[in-house]
Amino acid sequence: MVLSGPSGVGKSTVVRALRSRHPDVWVSVSATTRFPRPAETDGVHYRFVSEERFDQMVAGGELLEWATFAGNRYGTPRQPVLDHLASGSAVLLEIDLQGARQVRAAVPGARLVFLTPPTWDELVRRLTRRGTEPPEVIEARLATAREELAAEPEFDLTLVNTSVEDVVSRLISLLRNL
Ligand code: 5GP
Repeated sequence: MVLSGPSGVGKSTVVRALRSRHPDVWVSVSATTRFPRPAETDGVHYRFVSEERFDQMVAGGELLEWATFAGNRYGTPRQPVLDHLASGSAVLLEIDLQGARQVRAAVPGARLVFLTPPTWDELVRRLTRRGTEPPEVIEARLATAREELAAEPEFDLTLVNTSVEDVVSRLISLLRNL
């Protein structure tokens, strides 16, 4: 299952809540060239890698999908996903729209879920409030978010992020019924 949606919509908050309440669901750990934010741990939230290492992963076919987002590269290591699918466990990827499209093309049967904000203003508020990014990065993310919102019809299902609890329970019931 893929969880996607615009930057700042709250995907990572939802995934954090889901992980702590449902440790049986395996959540893919992406590789990224972005620098860690405070409170992010290497190997838990992301694998933080150099540009050179990311190049190697791309060249070696190690990534199931990858994309450049706001100047940094992000990708899903392929083998752990295949291993967990083979063992029958529920697998969740939290990735951007470009990655969701690649998964749809590469993985027959993948279920694509779009997380959307209750309103545009709410998304702007969330992106601005995080306070960890400079204004030009926020602007770039808002521009991307506008495009991403238009992609909603490409997804199998939309969840409105009014409450983290509700989104987590909807995702869990969807994962159990895959
Ligand atoms: P952030 O820098 O805020 O953690 O993530 C920025 C964007 O990259 C988010 O939309 C997030 O979902 C996306 N992202 C995180 N990991 C991956 C990945 O492995 N592949 C792709 N395509 N996008 C990712």
